Amino acid sequence: MVADSPNMRRRGIAAPSHDEQNRSMAPVAIIGGGISGIAAAHELGRHRIATAIFEATPRLGGRVSTVERGPVRFDDGAQFIRTDTPMAAQLLLNDLPSDLLFDITREVLPFDRRGHIGPGDPAQNALPKWGYRGGLMVLPRLLAASSRARIHLGWPVASLTRSRIGWQVSGPRGEAGNFRAVLVTLPPMAARALAILDGSLTRAHGAPGKGTHRTIISVAFEPDSPPSAPAGAYAFVNTDRQHAISWLAFESAKPGHVPAGREVVVAQMAHDWSAPRLGLPDITIAAEAVALCSAFLKSRVVPRWAHVTRWAEALPDTTVTLSLDDEDGGLFFAGDAFAGGRVHLALESGLAAATRIRRQLDAQS
Ligand SMILES: Cc1cc2nc3c(=O)[nH]c(=O)nc-3n(C[C@H](O)[C@H](O)[C@H](O)COP(=O)(O)OP(=O)(O)OC[C@H]3O[C@@H](n4cnc5c(N)ncnc54)[C@H](O)[C@@H]3O)c2cc1C
Repeated sequence: MVADSPNMRRRGIAAPSHDEQNRSMAPVAIIGGGISGIAAAHELGRHRIATAIFEATPRLGGRVSTVERGPVRFDDGAQFIRTDTPMAAQLLLNDLPSDLLFDITREVLPFDRRGHIGPGDPAQNALPKWGYRGGLMVLPRLLAASSRARIHLGWPVASLTRSRIGWQVSGPRGEAGNFRAVLVTLPPMAARALAILDGSLTRAHGAPGKGTHRTIISVAFEPDSPPSAPAGAYAFVNTDRQHAISWLAFESAKPGHVPAGREVVVAQMAHDWSAPRLGLPDITIAAEAVALCSAFLKSRVVPRWAHVTRWAEALPDTTVTLSLDDEDGGLFFAGDAFAGGRVHLALESGLAAATRIRRQLDAQS
């Protein structure tokens, strides 16, 4: 049984009765099943704290996504993972199964607004660029399996209401129950759509709602006759941010993704190109993007197929600083809005939030 702590009384939160504890599915609700949310569930699971993840879409992973088309697979969100930070390195390389991991050894080269390709940065290219043979989606799957979280897919959360024992989570699918702590891991626009009802006060939005993310449309296509990558590189990145293409990669550099003799090109289009085209049909977006890629590669590409993914909130423009006042009375925040737009940073943000939640639950017990 959990006794009232002075902290809880100060914030008007009572310890749950037996009935209330039984009605609650898990002490911690996690809103958003991207990497930061699943990493938090993994970390809480390691400490035997039960979690429930509520994910709006039918799949976990968020902006980590892999598409499969017969024998071909490609990553249409994040392209590779760094392990520049110690916790991400420990998790990816030691704690989780690493047999499907590989380092993309081919180089990334910069290009400018005219499409001129320059020499790669030796320091950046020396760092590992991790991928998974099964696609980057392997990472959220591994984290989810180890977390033992209850996972609710296709479950958009619409509101959080402060209740006697913490927070009540609700959405179009009804009320999910009461939770001692809630972790919100949404990018800014999604966070602004979440109603946070704190007694008589409605917070306009949570801390992540303060940021902005830029838009990327990702277009993947299989050329009828595979072009070879200039200078044998893996990918090209536009460094002056003046080109319509911000990133162009050859998926055959990733073992297990593309059968021999075939190629999948992944083009990520710049914000200024992508934002006004979000509402256009796939066929129009694909035709324009393939023409731009043909010009960049100096060879006319005829695609066998093309796949368009719209990332309205792709990467943070700026990073929001999370203050202690933002997290109050069992409401916590994580995600790349606070950490920076990289998988390993989102992951560390989820792990760090899990530690803050664990401390609060410990203080209350
Ligand atoms: C095109 C692209 C390329 C990238 N390339 C790289 C790269 O090469 N390397 C790298 O390290 N990083 C890259 N990134 C960045 C990286 O993918 C992200 O920083 C990271 O995945 C963000 O994780 P997150 O958990 O913070 O957010 P998300 O992955 O966005 O997770 C948030 C989740 O919340 C869900 N959600 C939204 N609203 C609700 C609601 N109301 N209720 C419930 N669920 C909701 C969303 O569906 C989503 O699953 C790339 C991103 C994009 C889009």
